[in-house]
Amino acid sequence: MFIEIEDLKAEPLHVRHVFPVDEIRFSHADASLSEPVTADFVLTHHDRDLHIQGTVETAIAFRCSRCIKDFTRPFSSSFDLFYAPQPDWGAVSTEIELKYEEMEVGYYDGVSFDVNAMILEQIELAIPMNFVCREDCQGLCDQCGADLNEGACRCKKEEPDSRLSVLLDFQKKKVQKEE
Ligand SMILES: [Zn+2]
Ligand SMILES: [Zn+2]
Repeated sequence: MFIEIEDLKAEPLHVRHVFPVDEIRFSHADASLSEPVTADFVLTHHDRDLHIQGTVETAIAFRCSRCIKDFTRPFSSSFDLFYAPQPDWGAVSTEIELKYEEMEVGYYDGVSFDVNAMILEQIELAIPMNFVCREDCQGLCDQCGADLNEGACRCKKEEPDSRLSVLLDFQKKKVQKEE
């Protein structure tokens, strides 16, 4: 979806659109979009400077980096962005520099605004560096590959930890005495 700046008339321009997964070119080694992306935003503009506020919603299928199971999670992110025509940096005036210095500004060609690219960027900025199914995912045993979320595997028990076995023996004796 492109917004032609020449055609912008009444503001604010309210856009609500559902983008099929293949229109948003999201590519990630461990994740993919599992639902169409709903974008809902309001665009106001001053000349060719754009101000866009809204949300993107979809669902993301990912592989947990610890237990390597596949999961799907709803995803939503809100944004508040400013875009300006790409300045001619060769002839940039101090006035323009001051104007943009204080704000995080994205640039576009000043003619047509690429909504898909903006949506893709918002998704990429908001996804985590590492996908985990839950914060305390125990992952897999590095020896036998068992899923430690489903309980400890035998490898742990076979670990020769004398302090632990002494403690266990002590508890066993204590339980026997109490019985
Ligand atoms: Zn996990
Ligand atoms: Zn194990």
